[in-house]
Amino acid sequence: MPKIETVLGPIDVSEIGFCLMHEHIVVSNWSMRQNFDDWFNPDTEIPKAIDELSQAKALGVDTIVDLTPINLGRDIDIIRRVAEESCVNVIAATGFYWNEEPWMAGWSAEQLAEYMIRDIEIGIHGTSSKAGIIKCATDHPGVTDSNRKLLEAAAITHKHTGIPISTHTCVGNRSGLAQQDVFEELGVDLARVVIGHCGDSDDIEYLQAILARGSYIGMDRFGLDSLLPTDKRVQVIAELCQHGHTGKMVVSHDACSHIDFFADQGMIEQFAPNWNFRHIPTDVLPALKKEGVSQNQIDQMMRANPAAIFAQKKPY
Ligand SMILES: [Zn+2]
Repeated sequence: MPKIETVLGPIDVSEIGFCLMHEHIVVSNWSMRQNFDDWFNPDTEIPKAIDELSQAKALGVDTIVDLTPINLGRDIDIIRRVAEESCVNVIAATGFYWNEEPWMAGWSAEQLAEYMIRDIEIGIHGTSSKAGIIKCATDHPGVTDSNRKLLEAAAITHKHTGIPISTHTCVGNRSGLAQQDVFEELGVDLARVVIGHCGDSDDIEYLQAILARGSYIGMDRFGLDSLLPTDKRVQVIAELCQHGHTGKMVVSHDACSHIDFFADQGMIEQFAPNWNFRHIPTDVLPALKKEGVSQNQIDQMMRANPAAIFAQKKPY
């Protein structure tokens, strides 16, 4: 049985169970945290994360993939503690977000990949926790020179270690296809890539164009209704299931127990009350069933597809 690295050690792929493939425990800027004591309060935020994941566990969530990249404040000590106390398996990521940070200009894709490979082969930040997935991102600028370098670093790391890639896209510029172009050019098997944030789109033609090239698609922002409401997201998944794509979709929230993108934390509750780790088991799965998606198809998307993505770990 193939093994997958969780932050608390390797498990059999069969133990992944019900898996949310794109979530975040804490997103909090490292520089601000280091300089201002009140930027992030671990005494309140860590128990909150443990409580939120424990609630998800009670609803049947066995595993989450924490896709927080290095430069969005990935904090392995917090991730480990939350995994330990919530008893949810957590798979951590290595890789970089799309922001063009000045230091990035001076480093090659190969050099960045060396650090990512270290996260996967040795462990993250002096711990025994190894990254189990590679994150990369393009967002609204698309595949700029800088973002292309980050995709190249992801491809090098993937080919060296064999662990899967999961991306962040912006549906506005259909950048999922541009990411596939780069990966294909670099010799990456597109079937080992999850093109993320596809759930923000109801453009079936765009989604089928990505699927036709063999990648998985992340229907992974349930709860962010301002980008696309839940009922629309559910209809798109149901339609793609009818078209025979059940085996290529993974479903998640991209929720964060804590995220510092908004100065007013209360605003998140207000504008996205369902953006949490419970929305899918509580509301989305019953809604999918109402749209004709069977329990077998749900199990495929929530259990079998994540296991298949992690099972094919082999270097090129
Ligand atoms: Zn995310």
